[in-house]
Amino acid sequence: MEGQKLLTVKDLKTYFYTSGGVSKAVDGVSFEVEKGELCVIVGPSGAGKTTLLNILGGMDTRTSGKVFLDGAEVSAFHKRQLTTYRRQDVGFVFQFYNLVQNLTALENVELASQICRDPLDPSQVLADVGLAARAKNFPAQLSGGEQQRVAIARALVNNPSMIIADEPTGNLDPARSYEIMLLLEEINNLGTTVLVVTHERELVERFTKRVIAIDDGKVISDGMDGYYHYEEQ
Ligand code: ADP
Repeated sequence: MEGQKLLTVKDLKTYFYTSGGVSKAVDGVSFEVEKGELCVIVGPSGAGKTTLLNILGGMDTRTSGKVFLDGAEVSAFHKRQLTTYRRQDVGFVFQFYNLVQNLTALENVELASQICRDPLDPSQVLADVGLAARAKNFPAQLSGGEQQRVAIARALVNNPSMIIADEPTGNLDPARSYEIMLLLEEINNLGTTVLVVTHERELVERFTKRVIAIDDGKVISDGMDGYYHYEEQ
């Protein structure tokens, strides 16, 4: 039986007009993601992955096309609706963690919890990502992998329907990258839909249920063997 759709992306285009001409960062992307799916997005640098994720995360606007999350048309949201969407519906994880340096791990998660309607308990979420013992540490006192765990806890505390992670392992060594992917998989197993961009082929092969390969702003393959085709290009 077919699962329930969470995310629908329809012929999405984002063009940037610069003095050098037009850059078609996202150029007619369409795909659907089911509730509870873990979906990896791969593609070379400049393929349009970050632009795509930023639109899905409500941080950028598109030139044309539509994005629906849980039946609501995100691409038609006004500014205020987008603010609510970013606070409540999606959790974003960045490559460089983006933690507030003068707040402890727990305070970073609490800060995010204060701007949403029905947050989870920050201490519990921090414990869930394996950091109960480091709650009082500042980011500079944590390893890269631990900082990324804090960032994932911060993304989770809103209890979002989708986690969007843009190269979450891009700054980590292979062992820590593996742990972060395991954590994202655990989160996914608990029911949260996860969209993750990564370059790391080994991780992709080890974890994915589905791979969408993007190049030149277009989907070039989508499926269990997507990455293989991408490598063959
Ligand atoms: P990726 O994340 O796959 O590396 P990006 O989404 O960052 O790719 O970029 C896709 C293309 O869009 C690139 O050619 C990039 O230079 C261009 N681009 C991205 N953001 C902007 C912007 N704000 N203004 C102009 N061009 C941009």
